[in-house]
Amino acid sequence: MKKTFLAIATLVFLLTVILAINKQSNITSAQSAGNSFKLGLPINCTLGKDCFIMHYLDRDPSPAAIDFACGQLTYDTHNGTDFAIPDERAMAKGVAVKAVASGKVLRIRDGVPDIRVADQTDKSRVQGIECGNGVVIDHGNGWQSQYCHLRQGSVVVKPNTSVASGAVLGMVGESGLASFPHVHLTVRYQDKVVDPFVGTGSSQGCNVARQPLWQKPLEYVPTGLIRAGFASKQPEMAEIWQGQLAETTLAKNNPALLFWVQAFGVRQGDEEQFRLIAPDGKTVINSKQPLKSTHRVWLSYVGKKNSASQPLVPGVWRGEYRLVRGNKVLIESIREVQLR
Ligand SMILES: [Zn+2]
Repeated sequence: MKKTFLAIATLVFLLTVILAINKQSNITSAQSAGNSFKLGLPINCTLGKDCFIMHYLDRDPSPAAIDFACGQLTYDTHNGTDFAIPDERAMAKGVAVKAVASGKVLRIRDGVPDIRVADQTDKSRVQGIECGNGVVIDHGNGWQSQYCHLRQGSVVVKPNTSVASGAVLGMVGESGLASFPHVHLTVRYQDKVVDPFVGTGSSQGCNVARQPLWQKPLEYVPTGLIRAGFASKQPEMAEIWQGQLAETTLAKNNPALLFWVQAFGVRQGDEEQFRLIAPDGKTVINSKQPLKSTHRVWLSYVGKKNSASQPLVPGVWRGEYRLVRGNKVLIESIREVQLR
């Protein structure tokens, strides 16, 4: 019944607007209009280099969650794609949010502070403004795009104005319901959410037939490095998201030296390999551990205490990290720090 109504509505619309010749050709042109809509990236960065996709759409209608590739990079009811940047330092520098296609700005919101949501109390704080600072663009032919969590005060477009594809809308932030700096993109066709990695054909399930909407194919990256570095005490996730613990020199009289790694998409059974190498080339730590559980975001570290009998000697210390799944090395990261 609803389908019939939509078909009639589409038909009436097309007959009025484009004065086409017969009913059959109208339906065909409506379908091709749907399929020909293509998206650019909503963010000004290079995926895999200075940004990454953290979450995809949840394609499981149950309280469980699954992404289009049958992976775990999503959570229940997540209706968009999260393009993330490494930390709040990058956010403060400014990474532009861009229109995925040309269109007209329908509405905007600005003025919501960039406060990372870390727990349930924070969630209730942003109730009703989950999108934070946002922009909605109408692309015509039933297509809309929505951009969420922009940096406070950064939205530069106004309702009822036209934007070109790739036009800057504002800056990546973490306003609203955001637990890390990113832009959340929701795409809608005829008011229904569309997974841009799948297209309009199928709204549920994974490993389904796909006609992605991206202009250039986007790779599904199930697991990757976010950041790595050194600290003089146990690092905390909040500090890492803030962009702290990025020092390349540390004092040799600190109580300890820790090598930390922040990653996304780690899975139970993945093997973590850590090595910490002293300035004289001696391997101080050499560990291999399987992960006990699966995590969308993961923080891991090894460290050496500073003691009178085994002091932290000055010089260049080196940390090496590998995440291995089966016989594949998924993450390989090497960092150095100077102790003075
Ligand atoms: Zn999101």
